[in-house]
Amino acid sequence: MSQTRASPYDAIVLGAGAAGLFCAGRMGQAGQRVLVLDHAEKPAEKVRISGGGRCNFTNLETAADRFISQNPHFAKSALARYTPWDFTDLMAKHGLSWHEKTLGQLFCDQKSGAIIQMLLDELAVGAGELRLGTAITGVSHADGVFTVETSGGAFTAPKLVVATGGLSIPKMGASGLAYDIARQFGHEIVPTRAALVPFVFTGADHEDFASISGVACAVRAAAERAAFEEAMLFTHRGLSGPAILQVSSYWLPGEAVRLTLLPDTDIAGALKDAKRDRPMATLATALEGLLAKRLAELVLRRSGVKPAARLADLSHAVLEELAASLTQWDVRPAGTEGYRTAEVTVGGVDTDGLSSRTLESRNVPGLHFIGECVDVTGWLGGYNFQWAWASAAAAAE
Ligand SMILES: Cc1cc2nc3c(=O)[nH]c(=O)nc-3n(C[C@H](O)[C@H](O)[C@H](O)COP(=O)(O)OP(=O)(O)OC[C@H]3O[C@@H](n4cnc5c(N)ncnc54)[C@H](O)[C@@H]3O)c2cc1C
Repeated sequence: MSQTRASPYDAIVLGAGAAGLFCAGRMGQAGQRVLVLDHAEKPAEKVRISGGGRCNFTNLETAADRFISQNPHFAKSALARYTPWDFTDLMAKHGLSWHEKTLGQLFCDQKSGAIIQMLLDELAVGAGELRLGTAITGVSHADGVFTVETSGGAFTAPKLVVATGGLSIPKMGASGLAYDIARQFGHEIVPTRAALVPFVFTGADHEDFASISGVACAVRAAAERAAFEEAMLFTHRGLSGPAILQVSSYWLPGEAVRLTLLPDTDIAGALKDAKRDRPMATLATALEGLLAKRLAELVLRRSGVKPAARLADLSHAVLEELAASLTQWDVRPAGTEGYRTAEVTVGGVDTDGLSSRTLESRNVPGLHFIGECVDVTGWLGGYNFQWAWASAAAAAE
């Protein structure tokens, strides 16, 4: 074991991501001497790549029902005390601006790097210390003091904030460290799985979807516990797009997903109207009026109805059956793309063992878990960063 240095710190934060940096900045500004440790060479890399480089940093519709957790009430306290407007106020203070794209999603007008710089500036205002490229090899607790063993020596402090995130995108440094530390101190882990992640398919579905890779369509995607209406994208491996990413967070292996294409359109009615107005038109032409050409062709291939069939020659029953194949299209994913591409991890440190006010461990005073490592997972659209900010602010208090 390396020699423990005399501790100049009140708190050590593990993880220089969204939650860790934000928490450390607030603690520092409240007069605490804070050290942030991260094994990555750069801080907050997920902030950098988020929102296509413009960081979808919050959502105006933030409410506890937009989060998945075994305890649906847990996030309420932190979310109520640090709101999306608190974060935009901070951005304004730093000269940053934002815009709403859709569904309450706020994006930074400047590049996401500006949000990272803001977090670093806030850390500096509180005189917080940041050590990157530091591997964490062990954590222990004795006599009210935490000792963190690292590649750069041992550090001690009476408070430890674990903010090392979830398992998604291991290539970017994601690890299960938070879960290991939680287990070490007697916490339960709600089983984790990749979420906000594309579905993959095998067999005929895989071939069909790959054949129209790049085509998008408005859809309602429903798993057993939730449904989302947004865009869906066919990919080389299966299905993606916001509606699919959202529903993936609720999907369990083996379950079917019901797709309703064009949920705002009466497809059967539209086909019957086309038959009445343009009886000599082909079914392919009528369908291409509703769907992208390549998708319409796939639908007809799967239905077995001849694309060149004149609408006049098709009964209402056939048109209704074809429409039903689009509105009650049950697909069974073979799986997801997994942590390799998932935006987040569902599950994590069981909230039963944490205070919802302070995110402090009920087992070990001074130990806190914040951000994505906690069993609180937001929908797509800025909710996960809002949880990172809000849980960090709650712990910093
Ligand atoms: C591609 C992509 C796009 C996303 N876009 C959005 C978006 O637009 N809006 C949104 O709300 N959410 C988005 N998310 C989700 C969001 O990035 C996360 O929920 C959020 O970053 C979680 O913050 P965190 O601080 O808990 O963890 P992280 O930001 O993941 O930070 C964890 C930190 O801990 C460090 N760490 C991990 N393991 C160790 C270890 N063993 N030792 C030392 N350090 C360690 C990591 O290097 C990292 O710096 C996106 C995620 C991805 C992958």
